[in-house]
Amino acid sequence: MGWSFRIARIRGIDIKVHATFFLILIFGALQWAGSVPDSPLQGALFGVVLMILLFACVTLHELGHSIAAQLFDIPVREIVLFPLGGVAFIARNPEKPLQELLIAAAGPAVNVVIAAILFVVTGGIGVDFMDTAAVLEALREPSFTTMLVWLLFLNISLVFFNLIPAFPLDGGRMLRAVLAMGLGNARATQIATAVGQVSAVILGIFGILNGQLLLTLIALFIFFSAGQERSVAESKTVLTTLRVGDAYNKHALSLEIGDRVSKVVDYILTSYQPDFAVMQGSNIIGVVTRSDVLRTLATDGTDRYVTEIMQREFLRVEAHRSLDEVRETLMENGAQLAAVFDGSRYLGLVSLDDISEAFTVLMFVRRQKELRQQRSPTI
Ligand SMILES: [Zn+2]
Repeated sequence: MGWSFRIARIRGIDIKVHATFFLILIFGALQWAGSVPDSPLQGALFGVVLMILLFACVTLHELGHSIAAQLFDIPVREIVLFPLGGVAFIARNPEKPLQELLIAAAGPAVNVVIAAILFVVTGGIGVDFMDTAAVLEALREPSFTTMLVWLLFLNISLVFFNLIPAFPLDGGRMLRAVLAMGLGNARATQIATAVGQVSAVILGIFGILNGQLLLTLIALFIFFSAGQERSVAESKTVLTTLRVGDAYNKHALSLEIGDRVSKVVDYILTSYQPDFAVMQGSNIIGVVTRSDVLRTLATDGTDRYVTEIMQREFLRVEAHRSLDEVRETLMENGAQLAAVFDGSRYLGLVSLDDISEAFTVLMFVRRQKELRQQRSPTI
């Protein structure tokens, strides 16, 4: 994720802060600057610390999801903190609905635990939650108690907000998981995303009526994310039916040891092919991509051997794998392309672009079929 930097690493997961995160600290400072009559600085400092502690809770929430995912052998690359919340980059959706349910529930469960601890601690230092007027009064003045009571309320809000049954909120994922247990994944996604969009519309109208710009923005975000989730699920069902052995380019140009960069430039200019295998006999020993070539041309005037600029490390996939599995492998490894093998025999290269192209074609074919089916009764 660009524009973000690492602040910690826990169980192999990078915890990163996005550059825009500082906006929320400024927001906290401004909110609290007027709370101490004689010292705006002291108030502002309180606001900043409160925001940092809130986001520590958000990080623990995301770690809840991440560690649950790791328990099911799903890799988690990083957690990025944005001003509006955290995102855990979990490599793929789990196959089993029960796993998805547990991973989604693990986040809010962490906030329930934190809230319970804060409830006991604040009760222990004499906060009487029955006396609402006193609690509300206490919430205005910065103090240690105020900090704890705010964190308690914020954690409770996090639980309720995340349980709204709308993608990409945890409640939406939990709903889909429960539906998928009885209806299968495709149908469950359809229903859950529809519920999500309806919830988002209600949330958006509520936001507009109450002049809550932030809530309206979040509702918009939820609405579009639900739509995106649906198309991801659709493409998944299409892509699981096709093997990568049927989708790689069988007529791809390849390079030999001893070929130079100028030959690749020729190939790129005369074909639309972006990636080339470097062959030694019938064995692939490396891969040269268009960007490798461009980088060499930009930094080097000499016509180098392709073996000098090729990538020696590349992913290998079996021809019988489905396009969806290959796409997931590519994304898990942050790679653009993989070499397709039938046993030990090299067949060709396949890239993320090839897969999305295959998807577009398949969706077109499918739609044509649907159209024909719709027309046939009238003939
Ligand atoms: Zn969550």
